[in-house]
Amino acid sequence: MGKTTMPVDGVSFSVVGAGRSGIAAANALAMRGGDVVLLEERSPVPRPDRLRPDVEFRDGSNQVREGDVVVLSPGVPEVSPLRAEVAKRGKEVIGEVELFYRLSPTDKIIAITGTDGKSTTTTMISGILEAAGADVFVGGNLGNPLCEALEGLGRDGEAITLTPETVVVAEVSCFQLTTCVDFRPLVAVVTNIAEDHVNYHGSFRAYQAAKRRIWLKMTAADTLVLNADDAYIGSWDWPEKAEDPTIHTFSLAGYAETHATYTSKGPSKQLLLHGEPLMERSELQLLGHHNVENALGAALAARAFGVELPAIRAGLAAYKPLPHRLATVGVVDDVHWVNDSKATNPNAATAGVNAIETPLVLIAGGSVKDTDFTAFGQLIRQRSKAAVLFGQTRETLVKAIGSGHPIAVVETLEQAVSAARHLADPGDTVLLSPACASFDQFDSYAHRGRTFIELVEALGAA
Ligand code: ADP
Repeated sequence: MGKTTMPVDGVSFSVVGAGRSGIAAANALAMRGGDVVLLEERSPVPRPDRLRPDVEFRDGSNQVREGDVVVLSPGVPEVSPLRAEVAKRGKEVIGEVELFYRLSPTDKIIAITGTDGKSTTTTMISGILEAAGADVFVGGNLGNPLCEALEGLGRDGEAITLTPETVVVAEVSCFQLTTCVDFRPLVAVVTNIAEDHVNYHGSFRAYQAAKRRIWLKMTAADTLVLNADDAYIGSWDWPEKAEDPTIHTFSLAGYAETHATYTSKGPSKQLLLHGEPLMERSELQLLGHHNVENALGAALAARAFGVELPAIRAGLAAYKPLPHRLATVGVVDDVHWVNDSKATNPNAATAGVNAIETPLVLIAGGSVKDTDFTAFGQLIRQRSKAAVLFGQTRETLVKAIGSGHPIAVVETLEQAVSAARHLADPGDTVLLSPACASFDQFDSYAHRGRTFIELVEALGAA
């Protein structure tokens, strides 16, 4: 028997936020006979091209219709007057991930959340499943909303059909988890936890509570994969419920009870899965210990889903870094230039910095997000020969680094690249690992990363 899905025909829905996921949610509902209005607070905003003609579009409004089921954009902060108002007027408030769960013909879902490493772990898992011959759809916070699959669109916009056999590998952000209700992954991974997005949730506690929601509907038949080295996760009190999922953990610190580890003692550096050799470290085409963690988490998730070791090994060995995540852009005058623009918080940038084994010139800075840079500043002192600070946060970073360390303070990324070029010697690496969001000067981390690539290519050509 197939999975039962939520009734939509004749039901009224208000979708709040005409971003990519809001458009996909509205289309998916309208295709199934729902009476749908898509609301966009900003004005004037043209009717989105991709929106089906049977969806009503209102810009300049976030007034949901009384008694509607509301699909709320992940962009609406957890503590905001709008959330409270929507909850009062609507019949029920859910998010786009929850909507996908209720409408999808498949319940074979693997979900990945955490502060850093989500996209990497997500695509590692989808790569492994593909190596195992499964029919896979990968999406979510990764970029392509899950509801696009309900419209028949795959990750790159190609035509797909979800069936009860499709395995959905879903990257889920903390924002999206705040509006999940029945969402039940059969396997889930929490990669790690560090301070991030406090503005959105109201506090670091609330941020962690949002991440813990992944566990709410999981049963004893399901597996939750956790990072045993993470002190925050280790200290969590999980919400009480009838059945706890099975927990599998990974650790680089080599705790005896963990299910996946890395051993670097002796000549062989190996990843071990449930006590068995999985692969050599050198088979993984990725820099940094953090990527060994991601691989261990992905391997445990795939194994819990029933994938055998050879396919896990093949999927991981074939895996290449996603763009803007510790990707080498070029070598100019024997200096390596590495783009880690996706490192939008100090935890991610710390992983980036620690992955570089040569002398390092670090480029960091960006838009303000209420972050504590104290520990990151100390790491910059220890691990870099010089730092180039740019963007809104440059002075805060200068303070965190303290006096007596070589730094250059500039405004733009272009100036940062030029300063780094002068500070770097042959054999060094220049790393863009900003530890900050990009919105002071760019549309996104990807825009910042592309700009960096262009600047480095121009250096090479000069
Ligand atoms: P996310 O989707 O959670 O933002 P990504 O896989 O896109 O994670 O990686 C974003 C950045 O985070 C990378 O550029 C890298 O610097 C860092 N990173 C990746 N994995 C980890 C990890 N396990 N721990 C800490 N930092 C990580």
